Amino acid sequence: MSRSFTYQALVLKTRSSGESNRDAWFLTAEEGLIRATVFGGPKSKLRAHVSPFNRGTLWIYHDPIRDSRKVSDFDVRSWRPGLRELYERTMAADALADTILASHGGGGNWEEALSLADSGLDALENADEALCIRIFIHFLWNWANILGLRPEPGRCGSCGEGFTANRAREASAHEAGPDGLSWYDQQDGIFLCSPCAGRTAGDAGGENHSAPNGGSRGLLPLNAGARRWLSTVEGLDSPQLARYSLDAASLGQARAVLTAIMAGILGKRLGTWDF
Ligand SMILES: [Zn+2]
Repeated sequence: MSRSFTYQALVLKTRSSGESNRDAWFLTAEEGLIRATVFGGPKSKLRAHVSPFNRGTLWIYHDPIRDSRKVSDFDVRSWRPGLRELYERTMAADALADTILASHGGGGNWEEALSLADSGLDALENADEALCIRIFIHFLWNWANILGLRPEPGRCGSCGEGFTANRAREASAHEAGPDGLSWYDQQDGIFLCSPCAGRTAGDAGGENHSAPNGGSRGLLPLNAGARRWLSTVEGLDSPQLARYSLDAASLGQARAVLTAIMAGILGKRLGTWDF
């Protein structure tokens, strides 16, 4: 049986291990997340190659008796130096890698997961501060989809009515609310129209039924602009996001809702999301 394996791999994280070695975590197209040891001191070429966000072809030696993996070589095809040139780029890249690690690499759709991660990191390389945040939100939106756990954004998860921002359903849609808001219900992980959100907040002991205030259900608003943006950018590659901007209010709402959705999926909020 062969003990050497080749992968298309992205370095997500490295950490010191022992005196001069490192542990490295990779997202691979073939097997999802892989952890392997990089042997060699600070001046080793291999160690320099196995750095976060580098992408290339990875050779791993697997010791079946100790069930340990060792990096034998890593041929870097993409170094992404731009990620280290701006604070927000580095932070967004860290947040992206952390999310992948926390969700165990994408639950089986590894090729798609790697492609989404690549697209996000490539786009971050040239992004300004505001674009970094949009790329991060876009990544979370598509990542929730890869995990198969994304809530339906175009209609109310309680009464089933479509929201107006979804043009395909416009004929049968009604206003999400007088303010055009829909709400993300963190407790049930669904989107609600304003009337249903008002009732839900009421059931949960909210004081004002017609104006959901979050309360114990953790209702987060998402305005029509943010909904429209999410439905527009969904199928785009991250580098195309530069052409689709968002006003500050919509950006803030989209970010709060998307991190809440991912926190619901992972069962925790990641510290790296708050850059
Ligand atoms: Zn409803």
